[in-house]
Amino acid sequence: MNIVVLIKQVPDMERVKFDREKGVVDRKSAGTEINPFDLNALETAVSISEKMDAKVTVISMGLPSADEALKEAIARGAHEGILLSDRSFGGADTKATSKTLAGAISKIGKFDLIIAGEKTVDGDTGQVGPEIAEILDIPHISYVEKIEDINQDNIVAQCELWGGTYLKKAKFPVLITVTKYINEPRLPTFKSKMKARKAKITVWDMEELKEVLTLEEVGFKGSPTKVKKIEVPQSAKREGKLFRENINEGIEEIITVLEDKKVLGV
Ligand SMILES: Cc1cc2nc3c(=O)[nH]c(=O)nc-3n(C[C@H](O)[C@H](O)[C@H](O)COP(=O)(O)OP(=O)(O)OC[C@H]3O[C@@H](n4cnc5c(N)ncnc54)[C@H](O)[C@@H]3O)c2cc1C
Repeated sequence: MNIVVLIKQVPDMERVKFDREKGVVDRKSAGTEINPFDLNALETAVSISEKMDAKVTVISMGLPSADEALKEAIARGAHEGILLSDRSFGGADTKATSKTLAGAISKIGKFDLIIAGEKTVDGDTGQVGPEIAEILDIPHISYVEKIEDINQDNIVAQCELWGGTYLKKAKFPVLITVTKYINEPRLPTFKSKMKARKAKITVWDMEELKEVLTLEEVGFKGSPTKVKKIEVPQSAKREGKLFRENINEGIEEIITVLEDKKVLGV
């Protein structure tokens, strides 16, 4: 069985700062990490590969530095990493991102199961997984919380959606997106980290993908979404005033404040 896992390198959202003037994320202000939900996707794939005869290939589209994320994925149990990196991929919206990832998956050839995170912590659209399934014309199951059964032909997965629990069965090839509830991602060991540092990451640029993609389909050119403005919402400030001298005067003042703010009717 061939399993493809999609991982995105994202900024550490606990530390990253926003440039309010330019309305963009200041990516230099924090380090990067593998999107947390993608660690659940990887753990799902590695657990399956331990039970069945399966090869786990991780793919990421991003800057050349994303090879670090792929090496970490190998340290966590993946067998092979492929990085899609080219200047022409820059400025991609979810459609162009999905198109590029789908192109790479079809170049790999035989695949049975594609696993993505339910969403990323930076873009947060949750569109890329289902879009790839549509492009490849295969079924998908989103928000998977548990794999009930898996064999060489099909998968039965439990997912939570709109307050309901669904048990869905799909024949391979299929794409699933997983939530954080599906498992607890394992940590890499010192030994696996050392081994992964020497791992060779395959890099595919536009030239490598020209049989499956055109320049019009990728990056800015392939992106119908145009972001006009990004605003960082200001967090609401709390105001407080103490009335402690005269209790009756304090009550009067509080009533006046509440009436002014239209909390109490006048
Ligand atoms: C007009 C526009 C321009 C943009 N320009 C840029 C830009 O210049 N640079 C930039 O970095 N971003 C840019 N973005 C953001 C970019 O579109 C998203 O990073 C990307 O499409 C993924 O969307 P998402 O983060 O919402 O993923 P989601 O749909 O929330 O992700 C779901 C899952 O899909 C998989 N996945 C998502 N992205 C990748 C990836 N790159 N590689 C492998 N797996 C992945 C992961 O498994 C993930 O858990 C732009 C967006 C728009 C709308």
